[in-house]
Amino acid sequence: MFGPDIRTPLPGPKARAVIERDARVVSPSYTRDYPFVIARGEGAVVEDVDGNRFLDCAAGIAVNSTGVSHPDVVAAIADQASKFLHMSGTDFYYEPQVRLAETLAAIVPIAGEVRTFFANSGTEATEAAIKLARYSTRRQGVVAFLGAFHGRSLGALSLTASKAVQRRGFGPLLPGVYHAPYPDAYRFAGSADACAEAALAFITDQMFVHLAAPDEIGAVVVEPIQGEGGYLVPPSAFLQGLRELTRQHGILLVADEVQSGMGRTGRMFALEHVGITADVVMIAKGIASGLPLGVTCARADIMSWPPGAHASTFGGNPVSCAAANATIALLQGGLVENAAAVGDHLMGGLRALQEKHALIGDVRGRGLMIGVELVRDRQTKVRATEERNALVQAMFQRGVLVLGAGRNAIRLAPPLVLTVAQADEVLRVFDESLCEVSAAHPA
Ligand code: PLP
Repeated sequence: MFGPDIRTPLPGPKARAVIERDARVVSPSYTRDYPFVIARGEGAVVEDVDGNRFLDCAAGIAVNSTGVSHPDVVAAIADQASKFLHMSGTDFYYEPQVRLAETLAAIVPIAGEVRTFFANSGTEATEAAIKLARYSTRRQGVVAFLGAFHGRSLGALSLTASKAVQRRGFGPLLPGVYHAPYPDAYRFAGSADACAEAALAFITDQMFVHLAAPDEIGAVVVEPIQGEGGYLVPPSAFLQGLRELTRQHGILLVADEVQSGMGRTGRMFALEHVGITADVVMIAKGIASGLPLGVTCARADIMSWPPGAHASTFGGNPVSCAAANATIALLQGGLVENAAAVGDHLMGGLRALQEKHALIGDVRGRGLMIGVELVRDRQTKVRATEERNALVQAMFQRGVLVLGAGRNAIRLAPPLVLTVAQADEVLRVFDESLCEVSAAHPA
């Protein structure tokens, strides 16, 4: 399977039938932007129930790192499933979980000895990080960032500040959580360094002065690239400054690599691009190629809570651990390099399209974590939200799956197996779709 092949008007009859059933019995809180009903897939191509094929630049929300059902991952899952499906690492031992923790200790951007807590999702990884920070520092306060997404359980949601609808009606949330602006270099009038400085100054000169003293703060939780918030790549000086600031005040630096980790950015972890280490790192999404797994890695001296303090029946399920071990082998075996190379190619192509399409305000990202921000006017940078939504639909109709991010950006987060030829197809469809959207929405 190589690229798009649309055979029925979308959605096809079988897709419509599934969607009608879904509407009656599935929670309406999900946000399906277009009617894609998967039947199967291979690599970066997915096929719907009516036999239409799509190039997948969404990867199940940046999850299918090794593509859909990579044979090595499927074999590892089948092998583990045939031995035992579950035992609970909470009360028993199994080798695949230990092996995964050993591997993570060697690759995660944390200095020194590392320990790992196993859960089932990014949200739970965040929850564990919050509890660990409170427990180990005996401080209640947490600093997070506007635009952040860290999950939806009540603790994690307290840090999430992405869309108001995600919080509306669910309060009161955790006390002691303070949000600072996340640096947006595209929208900042000044240099990247000045942008970083302004973001750090908010914390030191406003938050720490007016809201909470630094000795009340246990953790600063930050996405090294803000994902749901719009695929914002902060200036390196911002993350480096946070490292310095947290060290100075005995605060834990907690990096949420749920979306940016596991090779997506062309390095195993996004923090590697800026040359710093964190005290705690959360990982989920791409780690097990689609099986549920969330992990919280921490400096061993920090993760020293006693038996019974935190655990999860299903967390670090053996089948998920086997999938993760196979996934990491594939990432180390060439997929991280592929993400870097194909990501550069895709980004170059998008920058070329920016010359042609006034709607493209900014192209940013690292590796295969790419954001394209649409604006009505490049001078005023008015957010082109309607146009972004129309572009998502236009690309779907042409056989490329993408998702929005933030208010007016498109994110490209394909499986890391995407080829250069497939990237060129994405660019062709992007170009055609933008022509359609621009014609329908004249400046
Ligand atoms: N952290 C980040 C950076 C995320 O992007 C997400 C999900 O989008 C989460 C945490 C929550 O992960 P999950 O949906 O697996 O609970």
